[in-house]
Amino acid sequence: MEKRWCSACGEAFEPRPQAPRQSYCAKAECQQSRKRLWQRTKRKTDHDYHENQAQAQSNWRGDHPDYWRRYRESHPDYAADNRQQQRRRNAKRTSRQREKAIANSDASSGTLPVQGTFRLIAIDPVTWAGRHEWLVQITSVS
Ligand SMILES: [Zn+2]
Repeated sequence: MEKRWCSACGEAFEPRPQAPRQSYCAKAECQQSRKRLWQRTKRKTDHDYHENQAQAQSNWRGDHPDYWRRYRESHPDYAADNRQQQRRRNAKRTSRQREKAIANSDASSGTLPVQGTFRLIAIDPVTWAGRHEWLVQITSVS
């Protein structure tokens, strides 16, 4: 039987014959991370999907106005953790805006980051031993 390594947990698994391109094992948390990646990609690439998701979430919040306030009150550890993460995201956002302002100050179009260090993760083929990642330096030639 062919063995593969799960893209989420890195453990070996046998792909189901019905899913020849399967790259995640059957564990619930690995299937969840596969779905999360799919949704994240779909939201970024499909404008209608993004709009529908945002509208559905907005509707749900409208129908459950106290849900998150009550959840935070009954889960103080979660709330504290969340506040800390939000502070980190805010700091990151500020530094990104600074970087964007610097990148836009020259004559480049500024739409894509064409230079920098990127993490390259092998998704396919998954028949190698384990998960493969590289740090890649991209510099402009022209
Ligand atoms: Zn897995």
